[in-house]
Amino acid sequence: MKPIEAYVKSIPDFPEPGIIFRDVTSVLQDADGLRLAVDLMQEKLAGIEFDLIVGPESRGFIFGVPIAYNLHKPFIPIRKKGKLPRETVSIQYDLEYGTAELEIHRDAIQKGQRVVIIDDLMATGGTNEAMISLIEGLGGIVVKTVFLMELAGLKGRDRLQGYDVDSVLIYP
Ligand code: 5GP
Repeated sequence: MKPIEAYVKSIPDFPEPGIIFRDVTSVLQDADGLRLAVDLMQEKLAGIEFDLIVGPESRGFIFGVPIAYNLHKPFIPIRKKGKLPRETVSIQYDLEYGTAELEIHRDAIQKGQRVVIIDDLMATGGTNEAMISLIEGLGGIVVKTVFLMELAGLKGRDRLQGYDVDSVLIYP
């Protein structure tokens, strides 16, 4: 089997000139790539005790659900505003251009529960920071975040100091 980095296509100048876009779909469209990505992310949780997995719409779902299924843990979605049907708590956060709002069901996490966050890619870390606020606001304890990919040059880790952040692939 090829190494995981061989499955990631890098697209220059997408979505804007000067950006190199790391394409998750090129991993997913290969059965070996998909299996390897899930397995390598799941390995990062060896020895971690936790109660549930949280993942954001939409690519956090792709990796979070198979890992939750394999480890027999619940999966809690974080979604864009207006999509979740029951009572929610929400957070607004800044994007490069404009703002976004994320929501989680209020009853999804009980006080003191140990939470793992799974997502596809860390850029600035802003999404992860917002998710941590939502989870902690409900009394959860974020014990680890696992990404498939991290764009280290955007210094997301600086925003997440004090948290256990791990990535399968780190790009400069
Ligand atoms: P952050 O909140 O860490 O700045 O942004 C995370 C999100 O940015 C990712 O979930 C993804 O949607 C988007 N993103 C930024 N750069 C890339 C990239 O090179 N590849 C992919 N697949 N997503 C990116």
